[in-house]
Amino acid sequence: MKLPLIMLGALIVLSACTSSSTGRKQVMLFSESELDKMGAASFEEMKKQTPISTDKATINFVQCVANAVTKNVPKSVHKGNWEVVVFDSAQVNAFALPGGKIGVYTGILKVTETQDQLGAIIGHEVGHVIEHHSNERLSASKLQNMGMAAATAAVGMTDVENKGLWMAGLGLGLQYGVIMPYGRSHESEADIVGQDLMARSGFEPSASIKLWQNMAKLSQGAPAEFMSTHPSNETRIKQLTEHLPVSMNYYQTTNRPQCQKPSVISSPKS
Ligand SMILES: [Zn+2]
Repeated sequence: MKLPLIMLGALIVLSACTSSSTGRKQVMLFSESELDKMGAASFEEMKKQTPISTDKATINFVQCVANAVTKNVPKSVHKGNWEVVVFDSAQVNAFALPGGKIGVYTGILKVTETQDQLGAIIGHEVGHVIEHHSNERLSASKLQNMGMAAATAAVGMTDVENKGLWMAGLGLGLQYGVIMPYGRSHESEADIVGQDLMARSGFEPSASIKLWQNMAKLSQGAPAEFMSTHPSNETRIKQLTEHLPVSMNYYQTTNRPQCQKPSVISSPKS
């Protein structure tokens, strides 16, 4: 009985193997609708666990930047409106989930000096969603933890009940509110896709480089959460600098959003 199951598993993995937009091979065992359900359920959980900001000016600013970015996300990634929530937390972090969910912590707004830098953050996070990184992570952990045959048998809608496993795959960790790091190849891809996306959305793509320089500066003091999940390094800044001429092709000043950063949010000391 075992052998046919394993062969079936191998077949499924082969058929689930596609390529990302930067040409990386991907194994994805879950359907879009499964991921959307997991993303939505995880987001509800996050909203229960973390205080939500009620500051109108802050919410408007984040919403304005997020709307500009999500307008340019292909409908094949998410059809309806994106839900954007500002979490009232000093954590320097942000995330996006399949199913059209974006979470921004007020802590990261103290690092993003301009609408363009926040556009870079949201572009990057949405880049993870566009490239199906959660699906890959979930698929990898499934294959590792359960073995090929068991994984094959378990791929199905019933799996949405396995909350701990799939919240980890979505990057939210076994403990709700803990955001898990992506691997380097996912980070690098989200950087490239995010820089193109922010440019298309009317944000100056060079702000992505300034943003990571600010992050690096910040991490020299106390390590920021965003740094532990999003390792900033010279390679990242170098890659974004190299890709800048490409993303500049998508950037038009006529397209620029006018998102007002509230004065209550202080900028970092330089
Ligand atoms: Zn990332």
